[in-house]
Amino acid sequence: VTFETLNLHPSILRALEEAGYSTPTPIQAQAIPEVLAGHDLMASAQTGTGKTAAFTLPALNLLADIHPSKSRGPRILVLTPTRELAAQVNDAARKYGKFMRARTVSIVGGMPYPLQNKLLSQPLDILVATPGRLLDHMERGRIDMSRLQMLILDEADRMLDMGFMPDIERINEALPRERQTLMFSATFEGPIANIAKTLLKDPKVIQI
Ligand code: AMP
Repeated sequence: VTFETLNLHPSILRALEEAGYSTPTPIQAQAIPEVLAGHDLMASAQTGTGKTAAFTLPALNLLADIHPSKSRGPRILVLTPTRELAAQVNDAARKYGKFMRARTVSIVGGMPYPLQNKLLSQPLDILVATPGRLLDHMERGRIDMSRLQMLILDEADRMLDMGFMPDIERINEALPRERQTLMFSATFEGPIANIAKTLLKDPKVIQI
């Protein structure tokens, strides 16, 4: 399998070439076609397997042909348990989206509000966020979620352990029902399975 055979947009292939990636990792080879086909996804993969690109590449593919947006609401929302992980996803989206016009913004806890308010008042396509701070901004009416097409939960098991599930449920209630949802987690046992049931529609399951 090559990235070309996965049907990714030429601008993404160009960025991958520049990053020096020649072959998709197993999680990428399995996840990317399912996501491009429009399916919801439940994937278990550890850090180091290439999971970030497994969701970032097909998410970017949704945006590949868009014109720079004037709308302020995100089309892609990525939830992460920590600021560090949000920064990694943000960097990955910028790296793989280098030859596209998508705008990526990161909104995490512990950072000053004025800068975040300013970022949220400008056009954006991809929003990477930690749940608590995101919900805070949503409840203040600062984010228009009406054009959201994809929700991605990265390290869902860690978000559960950190007590973020009530926030995630409230965020979910404010999102459009018609959208694609991808959930990545180290495990899919116990409470994570229940959360998957409420968030995912008929998901494809991938275990690495
Ligand atoms: P992750 O599991 O998403 O944290 O990725 C682990 C590391 O592998 C990151 O440094 C990526 O830049 C790198 N990586 C991801 N996909 C590939 C690939 N297909 N080929 C080479 N390196 C990759």
